[in-house]
Amino acid sequence: MLSIVATPIGNLGDITLRAIETLKQCDAIVCEDTRVTGNLLKQLGIEKKELISCHGYTDDRKIDGIIERLQAGQHLALVSDAGTPCISDPGYKLISTVSQHSALSAQHCIEVIPGPSAFLAALSVSGLPINQFVYIGFPPLKKGRQTLFQSFVEEKRTIVLYESVHRIDKTLCEIADALSSQPDRAIVIARELTKMHEEVTHTTVALAKEAATSLMKKGEFVIVIGPKR
Ligand code: SAM
Repeated sequence: MLSIVATPIGNLGDITLRAIETLKQCDAIVCEDTRVTGNLLKQLGIEKKELISCHGYTDDRKIDGIIERLQAGQHLALVSDAGTPCISDPGYKLISTVSQHSALSAQHCIEVIPGPSAFLAALSVSGLPINQFVYIGFPPLKKGRQTLFQSFVEEKRTIVLYESVHRIDKTLCEIADALSSQPDRAIVIARELTKMHEEVTHTTVALAKEAATSLMKKGEFVIVIGPKR
């Protein structure tokens, strides 16, 4: 069995009972950064658990090793540093390989233990219409960046993006430029969700550059853009 386990995006209290139980019961945990997961386990009082590092670019041999362990009947858990694995995080290659592996897929051996994800938390607190939305993840750094932002002009669904502290200013300014023909369009900037310095800023395209300047440049950010009206 491979259990995909979501972990908190900041507040330890958001871990689910099933996640704790699974992390306790499994034979080993496949994770992104062994220090981050080691720290989470310590806080949960889970000791002496084998950690298998498997970050985004892990080679096929490592994935083969994980498949062999699953075939041998071991129970492995997959976590990322925070939130839900595969959501702008590693895990896709492993899960897609396991799902396509005939011997393993016949045994229905993947389960999910759902939990926190920053984009869902940001959407729900945004106050924007979220009956339909588009998840972008991190915008590209160079190629396709302006084309992506231009595509927002005609987007009738709410848009949600991830951004790091290093690029939050630049990204907000470029989005404001791309959407300058729609100055009233809503933008919500969610910072440090579920953490001590959680902050949700409601602004508009017209005021986005100003908002970017006065934003505390620390922590993690989600940008939510309202739909074209
Ligand atoms: N797998 C994670 C999830 O399910 O949300 C996302 C991982 S991605 C590598 C990290 C990005 O998620 C950060 O750069 C930020 O954009 C967003 N993020 C993660 N935690 C956050 C938080 N507590 N508050 C705001 N944004 C957060």
